[in-house]
Amino acid sequence: MITLHSLGFPRIGKRRELKFAVEQYWRGDMPEEHLESIGRQLRREQWESQSELDMVTVGDFSFYDHVLDTSFLFGHYPELQSQQRLKGLEHYFALARGLDNENTGNQPITPLPMTKWFNTNYHYSVSTISEDTEFKLNAKSLLAQCEEAEMAGYRPKPTILGPLTYLWLCDASSDSLKLEALQKLVPKYSELLTAFSSNAIEWVQIEEPILTLDLPPEWKQAFQQTYSTIRAKSSPKLMLTTYFGDIGEHADWVLKLPVDGIHLDAKANESYLITISEQLEPHQVLSLGVVDGRNIWKTNYEQTLDTVTPLYKRLGERLWLAPSTSLLHLPVDLSLELHLPRQIKEWVCFAKQRIQELTDIKQLLQDDTPSTSKQLLLKTNKQAVESRSKSLLVHKPFVKVMMMNINENMYHRSDEFETRSKLQQQTLALPPLPTTTIGSFPQTNALRKLRQDFKEHRISHEYHQQAIQTTIEENIELQERIGLDVLVHGEPERSDMVEFFAEKLDGFATTEHAWVQSYGTRCVRPPILYGDTSRPSPMTVELATYAQSLSEKPVKGMLTGPVTMLTWSFVRDDQPRSVTCQQLALAIRDEVIDLESAGISVIQIDEPALKEGFPLKLAAQPNYIQWAIDNFKLATSGVKSTTQIHSHMCYSHFSELIPHLQKLDIDVLTIENARAGSRFLNEITESNYTKALGPGIFDIHTPTTPSEISISNNVKALLTSMPPTQIWVNPDCGLKTRTWQQTEESLKNMVNATQSVRNELETRKQGV
Ligand code: GLN
Ligand code: ZN
Repeated sequence: MITLHSLGFPRIGKRRELKFAVEQYWRGDMPEEHLESIGRQLRREQWESQSELDMVTVGDFSFYDHVLDTSFLFGHYPELQSQQRLKGLEHYFALARGLDNENTGNQPITPLPMTKWFNTNYHYSVSTISEDTEFKLNAKSLLAQCEEAEMAGYRPKPTILGPLTYLWLCDASSDSLKLEALQKLVPKYSELLTAFSSNAIEWVQIEEPILTLDLPPEWKQAFQQTYSTIRAKSSPKLMLTTYFGDIGEHADWVLKLPVDGIHLDAKANESYLITISEQLEPHQVLSLGVVDGRNIWKTNYEQTLDTVTPLYKRLGERLWLAPSTSLLHLPVDLSLELHLPRQIKEWVCFAKQRIQELTDIKQLLQDDTPSTSKQLLLKTNKQAVESRSKSLLVHKPFVKVMMMNINENMYHRSDEFETRSKLQQQTLALPPLPTTTIGSFPQTNALRKLRQDFKEHRISHEYHQQAIQTTIEENIELQERIGLDVLVHGEPERSDMVEFFAEKLDGFATTEHAWVQSYGTRCVRPPILYGDTSRPSPMTVELATYAQSLSEKPVKGMLTGPVTMLTWSFVRDDQPRSVTCQQLALAIRDEVIDLESAGISVIQIDEPALKEGFPLKLAAQPNYIQWAIDNFKLATSGVKSTTQIHSHMCYSHFSELIPHLQKLDIDVLTIENARAGSRFLNEITESNYTKALGPGIFDIHTPTTPSEISISNNVKALLTSMPPTQIWVNPDCGLKTRTWQQTEESLKNMVNATQSVRNELETRKQGV
């Protein structure tokens, strides 16, 4: 018999129950015990959805983030002052989200920083390793959850992050500190394994996804030492779990690690699978990720059988099947989508449907399945797969023609930046240190309700449009009053910067309930990019021109760039991502040109996800950078030299990108910087970046209002490394999550601070 398992299941619940419960708890409207019981209920449902599997994963559930749970499991968090006396979930959430003075009657607690989980859009909380880091095992909650699963009639397989991956993901001033901490951490893992075996746990999933990255030699060595010592005398069996890529160059030594099984992504490792199966020890199990945990397209059963059958013949019972990664990255249940076009629904799987696919594949492999059932399974699957590959919804001849008509000139502006910036200055006549914002203004409940009412046809198009225009009027009026130089319309009509455009472009479908956790209680609903994309009609021109008609100052046109549209969608897998991105670039290019023709002289094309799209392996990065840059340029180069192209990027930590920023040829680039400190900025200036730059002057992620003094100090600090002609002054991201009061105060302070710095510059100039 083949064993079926999963690496993890979405924890948010079918209807985002986790989000609503946790937020209610945060507001003080739900006692902790009640939240705990909702947690138990959600775990129960998670396991029920996977009852076809031979064991259930325990430890994939989390109230906020499973990496933070790992920090708690090993007692790795900043010491609280004794007066703070935070316990249980209160303590946990305080580290996740911070806690201000009032609640502790003491020092505020700063939240742990967050960063992206590999190249996904899931964010984890980053703990720090220092010389005095100590660990202390606290396995109570995890063990209790194993018992919970057992009581409910399931066979629990706890999952834990492996020690090396955990430390790799932590922050530390040097790599060697992490490896030193490993010496202290490994005994705790042994302790945990002993505890598991006392609780009659047979298998433990130990996740080491960094085995799919390029690893420094010390880390490779550390793997070998760690895994030889980690096993306690009576250790349960270990399933060493990798995902997000192939273990290729590491395969030789990874296979020698003393574990009882290894999980590999079947597609990524396809060419090594036979060799790997030959190298396994007779007692070792191979778990194959045969259905995609990160994207939604139905598995092609025939192809899967081609890969898996020879392995099954060789390994028999020692072959396990699973999704390639945790299903955390997929929406929960496709059956909730009542309005998704029937054909598209036929082509995709969400988490629950992936489990069904596993049971199908198992049946297809095993001899005892009646051949009529096998035929039926294969036929239905083939129909779905073929209907997608042949569909006219997917393949649009006119898009292919447009692609063929792309020529080299379309990738370049007609003048160099130096010439353009002079021409733009003549038309725009901006003061030194121009002030602007990133695009969105606060999203109020009233706005959310307005959009929802419109979507569900409770109000007319005219009514909706009128209300949006009124909001834009207010936004423009406010910015005029505050004295900003380049205005925005405030994006009141947009729920999400990707979904908004996906609703207007051909080739995309949007969903109602297909939420995926991004961080904590925040979920996103990535659209489905299923076919050739094109722009049936202008998407933003009407509101952009309306906004511009209200002011003498430039109002920015606001678009999402091709790479971000791609990265934040479930993307078709039947052609290279670069080609899909190129189609998006063409559609956005047309919008940029239409905005210009309608009299918009400043156009911003956001690319906050450019960094996230980076392949994990170094060897694959140059190719990605090349096409990402090309497609951004294809989208933005169709305008005259007098039109000023802005772009915005966020999420700091993009050192890899810096050497390439110059090539994007952006007139004005605004970036998140406030949280990254000066490191990022130094890197940019060292790279001899010559174009205009607006490094976020205050952090929009915190609910505090920056003072005028702090802002002017920040601007002056910028002036030490860049000339005033190069600097723009702006917040570090959109203001949609802030309140109106905070937005207004912060922007006033920003404008006043800038004015005072300008005055100083002027006096100094006159003094000379
Ligand atoms: N223009 C968008 C906004 O201001 C940019 C959002 C982002 O960078 N993620 O909301
Ligand atoms: Zn941003």
